[in-house]
Amino acid sequence: MRLNVPGIASHFLRSRITKVCVAIAGATPAEMIEKASSVVKETPFLEFRLDYLEKPLHALPRFRQFFADNTVATGIATCRRVANGGKFAGSLAAELEVLTKCAAAGFHLVDLELESAEGLKKSDLQKLRDTGIGLLISHHDFTGTRDLDSIFNRIEAFHPDFIKVVPTARALVDNLTLIRFLERMNDHSNIIGICMGDAGIISRVLGVRAGSAFTFAAATLGEETGPGQIAARTLIETYRIEQVDAATKVYGVAGNPIRSSLSPIMMNTAFRRETVNAVYLALQTTRLSDLLKLVHEIPIQGISVTMPLKREILSHLERTDPLSARIGACNTVLRAQDGKLYGFNTDVAGITGPLEKRMPLAGARVLVLGAGGAARAAVFGLREKGASVFILNRTAETAQKLARQSGSKTIRLEALAKTPFDAIINATPVGMAGNKAAPLLEAKDLNTKLVFDLVYNPLETPLIHLARQLSIPYITGVEMFVHQGARQFEIWTGKPAPEEEMFRVVLHALRQQAELAAAEAAESGPEAKPAARPKSEAKSKPSAKPVAKPAAKPKSGPKPKPSAKPLAKKADKPKSAAKAKPPAKPAAGKSAAKAKK
Ligand code: NAP
Repeated sequence: MRLNVPGIASHFLRSRITKVCVAIAGATPAEMIEKASSVVKETPFLEFRLDYLEKPLHALPRFRQFFADNTVATGIATCRRVANGGKFAGSLAAELEVLTKCAAAGFHLVDLELESAEGLKKSDLQKLRDTGIGLLISHHDFTGTRDLDSIFNRIEAFHPDFIKVVPTARALVDNLTLIRFLERMNDHSNIIGICMGDAGIISRVLGVRAGSAFTFAAATLGEETGPGQIAARTLIETYRIEQVDAATKVYGVAGNPIRSSLSPIMMNTAFRRETVNAVYLALQTTRLSDLLKLVHEIPIQGISVTMPLKREILSHLERTDPLSARIGACNTVLRAQDGKLYGFNTDVAGITGPLEKRMPLAGARVLVLGAGGAARAAVFGLREKGASVFILNRTAETAQKLARQSGSKTIRLEALAKTPFDAIINATPVGMAGNKAAPLLEAKDLNTKLVFDLVYNPLETPLIHLARQLSIPYITGVEMFVHQGARQFEIWTGKPAPEEEMFRVVLHALRQQAELAAAEAAESGPEAKPAARPKSEAKSKPSAKPVAKPAAKPKSGPKPKPSAKPLAKKADKPKSAAKAKPPAKPAAGKSAAKAKK
C-alpha cells in the first residue's frame, strides 16, 4: 500500500513535468483527444478537464489509448464539480468514481478540490490514493485573495503530492500577496500558485519566478479554462516562462485596458533578441497606488505608462525630463538602482523620429489634429525641433490653450484647403478600429506633402487610405508605436533596440488580429462587414518592411532625407537613452505637480 506522504511518486512526477501545464477542454472526448494530440507535440504536460464532458466515465478508454500512444505525456485529470467552479453536475461520490478510475486510464495525477477532499470519508480518499495516482489538492477562490496560509494548512493536512492555491486578483497588489506566500513556502517544491482574473495575469509568470512548481495555460487563445489564463504558446514563446528565474528583471505596461496591448509581444521579442534576462508583463490597473506598490515591492525595473495613468504618475517621480513636464505626461518610467523613479516621454521621439527620417523639422509647417495626450507630445516635440505648428481640435478652447502653451497657432477646418503643410498628423482616435466617428478630413483638405496617422489599428486607417489614393506619402501609427517602444528599451537596458524585429512582430500581430476580426465578422453573417483590409496588407506573411512608404521627394518645401528603414540610427536615440541616467532637471515632483494644476 502507498504511504500518504509525498515520496517517490512526487519526485518521479516532478521529474516529468514542465513549467507549463496546458488545460485541455472540449465538448466531446474526440475533440479533447484531437487538441491534446496536437498540443502534446510542443508541451507534454496536460490537464484534461473531464468535467467539460457529458459522461466523463465513458471517455476514459479513449484517454487510455491516448496515453498509450503518447508515452511522453503527463496527464492531470480534473472533474471539478459545479459547486467548486467546475462543470461537473454529478455528486461528490460520482466525482470520486471518475477520479478513482483515472489511474487505470493512464493519468498520472488527479486534481481534487479541497472542498471535495474535506467532504470525503478517510477510507474513500484512501481508495483513490491506493490506485497509485498522484494527488493534487486545489483550492479556488473566485472572489478575492484571502488568507493563503490557512488554505495551505487545510490542504497540507491531506499530504498530497501537489498543493494548488488559486485566489482571484482584484488588484495588482493581490499578486504580491501570492508571491510573498510562495516565497515563504520556498522549502516546498510542490506548491502551485496562480491569481485568476485580468489583474492576476502577471502571476502566471511571476508565480513561477517566486517558486510555483508550474503554471496553467490555455491550449490556444479563446480556449481558456480559467479567468486570465494565457495561451501556452504566448507563455512559452513571448514570456519565455521556461527561462524565467529569480534573476529575471521585470518590466511592464500599465494602464486599462491592457489585455490586448501589443507592447508585451514587442518588448519581450526585443529582450529575447538582445538576450536580456528580463520579462515584460501586462499590468492591468486604473489605480496608481496599486501600480506603485508593485513597482517598489516586486520590484519592477521599468514601466510603459498608458491611459489613464500618464498624467497622474508625474507627481510620483523623483525627476522627469523638462519636455515631459511641459507636455504634462510621462509614458516611460525607469526605476534606478537607488529605487527612485525617473520619467521620460518617448511618445515625442515616436513622432519626431519617423518625421525626421523624411524631412527636416526646422521650419516645417505641421498641422496637428487633436489636443489630447498624443497631440501634446507631437506639438511640444515639433516646436522643440523648430517646426511651425497649427492645431485643429474638436474642442476649440483646448486647442487654443495648447497653442498658447507651446507657441503654436490654431486653425479652422475651412482654412485647410488653401493652407499648404509639410505634414498633417492625426492625433485623435478617429479612424481607430471600433471608433465610429466620420473622417475628419476630405481629399481637398490634404494640402500636404506627408500624412502621419498615429492610429495603428487598423493598419490602414481611412486617412492613410485617402493619402494612398492621392499618392501622398504617409507614415502609419505602427512606426510611432515601435519607435517609442524602441526608445523605452534603450532607456531601460542601455542597448540599441532591435527595431526591425520589433516592427516585424507588431505588424504580424496586427495582421493576425485583422484576420481574426474578418473571420469573426464573416461568421456572424453578411451584414457584419469586416474592417476593410488594405491591399498592401493582403499577405499574411510577416514582413520586415514598414507599411509606411518613405516620403517621396516633394516638389517644393523642405527636402526629405532618403530613408524608409525603421532601424534605429544612433542619431535617433534620445540623449536620455543612456542606461539609468536620470534627467538632470528640473525636480520632477514640483514641476509635475504644477503641470497637473
Ligand atoms: P486623448 O488624450 O483622449 O485625446 C483625444 C483627442 O482626440 C482630443 O483632442 C479629442 O478632442 C479628439 N477627439 C476624440 N474623438 C474625436 C472625434 N470623434 N472627432 C474629433 N476629435 C476627436 O487621446 P490620446 O492619448 O491623445 O490618443 C489619441 C490617439 O492617438 C489614440 O486613439 C491612439 O490611436 C493614438 N496613439 C497612438 C500611439 C502610437 O504609439 N502609435 C500612441 C499614443 C496614441 P476633444 O478635446 O474635443 O475631446
